[in-house]
Amino acid sequence: MKIIDGKIISQQVKDEVKAKTAELKAKTGIEVCLAVILVGADPASQVYVRNKKKACEYVGFKSLSYELPEETTQEELLELIDKLNKDDSVHGILVQMPVPKQIDEKTVIDAISPEKDVDGFHPMNVGALCIGEEGFVSCTPAGVIQLLKRGCDGKIDIAGKECVIVGRSNIVGKPMALLMLRENATVTVAHSKTKDLAEVCKRADILIAAVGKAGVITKDYVKEGAVVIDVGINRNADGKLCGDVAYDEVSEIAGAITPVPGGVGPMTIAMLMNNCYEAAVRKLK
Ligand code: NDP
Repeated sequence: MKIIDGKIISQQVKDEVKAKTAELKAKTGIEVCLAVILVGADPASQVYVRNKKKACEYVGFKSLSYELPEETTQEELLELIDKLNKDDSVHGILVQMPVPKQIDEKTVIDAISPEKDVDGFHPMNVGALCIGEEGFVSCTPAGVIQLLKRGCDGKIDIAGKECVIVGRSNIVGKPMALLMLRENATVTVAHSKTKDLAEVCKRADILIAAVGKAGVITKDYVKEGAVVIDVGINRNADGKLCGDVAYDEVSEIAGAITPVPGGVGPMTIAMLMNNCYEAAVRKLK
């Protein structure tokens, strides 16, 4: 059994972005810039935003940070997004979710210019992924593709393989399915209404769990030798961080597996950096 190490692979991605960013700056004078907006003081969101700022520093981006009070109105937030949409020096805009209840998440996503939507949540970018056009892909599923391509010394074949994805959210499951389809896997998407989930999962050569329930994927759901990617971030009964996969027992039969923490998690920010670099390059074109 091999461990697919997201810490190592995310570092590779960030180092590549860092090198490309320095080259872009040397050739064109352009400084890649990401604007991050946080509304309210949710502690988890504050940590995510801090980590994004740190990653920007590491790869050599300028980062603009807007920390707005909890009572910010939707109109005020939309005004700020509009200002950033029009600012040529800003390449990526990210609004940290969730937003307070007086603000409609969908309205916010729709307001961000698709060319600056580095989270890949705008309907234009989702549509582009669906029909195979250039756009921004949601960072977590994009990170999973990198784990599959770079993990196990690049020896994981995706084309023609049976891939089962458990979960169909807009930010993970659905874009994940489209990306695996783009890589020529034969894709099944399972969800809470799927019958005989264990049997469905057992068909998978590549099993991707994005459920949000600690340890639901036990060894009874996994074919011997399968590649298992665990997107879940949960807390177990002892408050310890864990994935959707019962790691100890599944790692005994899987061919390769991602740990939690240290698997998919670190890839998300690395892919965000890559998307933001791409936004700057596409603007040049
Ligand atoms: P959602 O809650 O939006 O979606 C969960 C999906 O799992 C739904 O499609 C749901 O089905 C399905 N599901 C729930 N229970 C079951 C079950 N018992 N059997 C089969 N399917 C089930 O979650 P997200 O997609 O946003 O996130 C999934 C997990 O990934 C979470 O743990 C989250 O924290 C983590 N995550 C990790 C990221 C990272 O950077 N590593 C980034 C984003 C998320 P239905 O549609 O029928 O309700």
